[in-house]
Amino acid sequence: MEQQNNSSIERSDFGSLSDGKEVHIFTLTNKNQMQVKITNYGGIITSIVVPDKDGNPADVVLGYDKLDDYLKEHPYFGALIGRYGNRIDSGRFSLNGKEYILAQNNGPNHLHGGIKGFDKVVWNAEDSVGDEGVSLKLSYLSKDGEEGYPGNLDVTVLYTLNDNNEIIIEYQAKTDRPTHINLTNHSYFNLNPEKSKNALDHVLEIKADKYTVVNETLIPTGELRSVAGVMDFREPKPIGTNIDAVEGGYDHNYVLNKVGTNLDLMATVYEPESGRTIEVFTTQPGVQFYSGNFLNGSLKGKNDIVYVKHYGFCLETQHFPDSPNQPDFPSTVLNPGEIYNHTTIFRFGIR
Ligand code: BGC
Repeated sequence: MEQQNNSSIERSDFGSLSDGKEVHIFTLTNKNQMQVKITNYGGIITSIVVPDKDGNPADVVLGYDKLDDYLKEHPYFGALIGRYGNRIDSGRFSLNGKEYILAQNNGPNHLHGGIKGFDKVVWNAEDSVGDEGVSLKLSYLSKDGEEGYPGNLDVTVLYTLNDNNEIIIEYQAKTDRPTHINLTNHSYFNLNPEKSKNALDHVLEIKADKYTVVNETLIPTGELRSVAGVMDFREPKPIGTNIDAVEGGYDHNYVLNKVGTNLDLMATVYEPESGRTIEVFTTQPGVQFYSGNFLNGSLKGKNDIVYVKHYGFCLETQHFPDSPNQPDFPSTVLNPGEIYNHTTIFRFGIR
């Protein structure tokens, strides 16, 4: 009898860069016909198609159909972020008595790895089909001194789509000199993309009692403050409920209520009209909840959708911003001989 298993991974051309480097796009499909597209340019997730409660499929992440659009400036749609997710104060840190100077690509600060972060490099790609699901293994060697960071950093990111409608992202890295590292994925979600004006009706829960307070350039002051009030997502609440009372909108690192590095369920999203849900599991101590505050209607994405303010939101699992300059935050140092490990799962469902 023929086995019923429709999982697959297919590679197609996605274009090339000005230096001639070819870029591919991989289509991962599981048994439930959930489909995820990932390109090895920036490790970007360009599309996630999942059904709503009536079985109608839709693409629930922001982004583009064409490589050219990703080569223009965009706010990190779907990309792998490295070497350091979020901001480092004034683009500087000292490590073992030596000062390192990074690019200041966000006002006075360093953001998401600098001018040419991991979101803008071409990764080596290897696809495979295994018992765990269909996988795309991306690897990249970031050379000593790249964007100002010390150490040759060998990075691997394994994306797996399984039959539980989970996208599992496993990050690994090693270095030959002490350095700092904080990898994440910058997907923007909207679980009701064709019908909703923005993502403010999505009901969010984050298991965090505290968040890291920031200054006017979005650098943590070091204070961990209770979320009680408008920042509180410990009970599920629509993103829009208190957003007007949060200056600039949500763009905060939540300190997750977890001890150690277990892979725990730390955030849940539910969109009532479509019934679609996302559960976020992570080994990381924090999550940057960013409510798409800087989207302003100037970018048009797939399916001709205009990305207005708050049209999509991100849940970037991570270490806390500016940890290299914050001795009281969990450390982001990676030493030679150690292995950086981080796993995050986005599980898609319906309610
Ligand atoms: C940051 C925002 C930034 C956005 C897009 C988020 O991770 O926290 O401040 O605007 O990424 O660049």
